Amino acid sequence: MPNASASIWTHAASAPDRIALRGSTSVSWTYGQLSERACAVRELLDTHTVRPGDRVLLVAPSVPEFAMAYYGILAAGVIAVTANTMATERELTYMARDADVRLVLAWSALAPAARRTADELGVPFRELREGLDGIAPASAAPEPLPADAHDTAAILYTSGTTGKPKGAQLTHGNLASCAAIFCDIHAIGPDDRAVTGLPLFHVFGQACVMGTTMRAGGSLTLLERFDAGAMTALIRRDRPTFIAGVPTMWNAMLRAADDAGADFSGLRLASSGGASLPVEVMRAFEERFGCTIVEGYGLTETTGAGTCHLADEPAKPGTVGRALPSCAVAVRDDEGAELPPGEVGEVHIKGPVVMKGYWNRPDATGEALDADGWLRTGDLGSLDAEGDLRIVDRKKDLVIRGGYNVYPREVEEVLYEHPDIVEAAVIGVPDPHYGEEVAAVVALRPGAALDIQALRAWAKERLSAYKVPHLLAVVDELPKGATGKILKRGIDPSVVSGLS
Ligand code: ATP
Repeated sequence: MPNASASIWTHAASAPDRIALRGSTSVSWTYGQLSERACAVRELLDTHTVRPGDRVLLVAPSVPEFAMAYYGILAAGVIAVTANTMATERELTYMARDADVRLVLAWSALAPAARRTADELGVPFRELREGLDGIAPASAAPEPLPADAHDTAAILYTSGTTGKPKGAQLTHGNLASCAAIFCDIHAIGPDDRAVTGLPLFHVFGQACVMGTTMRAGGSLTLLERFDAGAMTALIRRDRPTFIAGVPTMWNAMLRAADDAGADFSGLRLASSGGASLPVEVMRAFEERFGCTIVEGYGLTETTGAGTCHLADEPAKPGTVGRALPSCAVAVRDDEGAELPPGEVGEVHIKGPVVMKGYWNRPDATGEALDADGWLRTGDLGSLDAEGDLRIVDRKKDLVIRGGYNVYPREVEEVLYEHPDIVEAAVIGVPDPHYGEEVAAVVALRPGAALDIQALRAWAKERLSAYKVPHLLAVVDELPKGATGKILKRGIDPSVVSGLS
């Protein structure tokens, strides 16, 4: 099969002057320039005797130069290990050592820690500057190496809530399938313009958004660090046809005052994923910006793909849509038996987007993938009679209060309906009587006040008694990871212990 990067060269040949990438500055990069810069990276790899199948650590935020380096690495048949830009030096070194990288490439602002990692491993380091300044122009423009569908193209480390981070190996076949599926279901083509504040090291930005747009020959505007005001400014400037993000981003855009004059009329799609989209946020966004939010569900291990709503079908709020074309979704009990519609069990996904396995971790791979290629997602959900999936929660986030299961997501949905609450996370805290108690950590609208009695009275009208939060902490903002998802494990224990 063709290399997963091949479409860049196809577009460079047929439409070299078409804009491929933009950042937040006025500089833009055409497909011709992108393929030239990617070829320059390929030659750089050769200089450092990096060979097909070797790994390269890429540490860069969402800037056009990420794409230049990434596609150069893939085109050479080399594996890109894309590191979280929030990773500490120790975490970078862990990944680099685990993946046994041959070279470290890092964006200038992130260079110091990445350089020390390279030094520690005794491998060469190269800094990525604007326009890849300092990397010699390509002397030739060879086509990408052909790839086998099972050849690993990228390794993405999951953040390792359970044990050490694991490197999910995404193959050329996985990346190509993901891009083809999204081009197909959302009818993305060369006239499409995307804007995103998602990080490119993560599967959603990398495979679902960048991979899809580059396959289609569209243009992609990247926001180095998401900020609602900056996002609106880029929407105003580049008039995108689609935008992509995680729910906290839509929420932030709703709270930002400055969207006066922003023209959202060309925007036909806002693609949401990565975490559950509170129904309230979806409704408010559509009302304010006149653009449908299409929610999808996937994991790093499924190249970000799994299920999705279709823009031209009536939304079924609270569900994440049906299995994507060529993929299958099943809900199973703890013994692995498939459950009928309506029953809650562990969500399993199968299809060409499912990873080949974790790098160097046959044990973890064996736990995640069964003999028939089904991936156990670790998420609880149920299918309805039409095959639409409802994600109930992550298995590990379930709170068990006095023997009753409380799904934090259900409680969070209710909290988001409260007029003064702008962000909410529900967690279990140890309790001597009930084993665990339900606690809400919320951020409020400026000037609003909320105490536990008022919250409880309000929640009691909407939830069974055992689900009502008994503890409350009000914070300025909930902790978020580099993707913008709320990080429950990042909630400060001192806030939690001070809950009242
Ligand atoms: P890590 O595994 O590294 O700790 P993570 O679980 O956030 O981090 P990702 O692969 O980024 O890893 O995210 C996948 C998870 O995100 C899914 O297992 C699911 O829990 C959640 N998720 C993704 N999309 C949705 C959605 N639309 N609704 C609800 N949850 C979602």
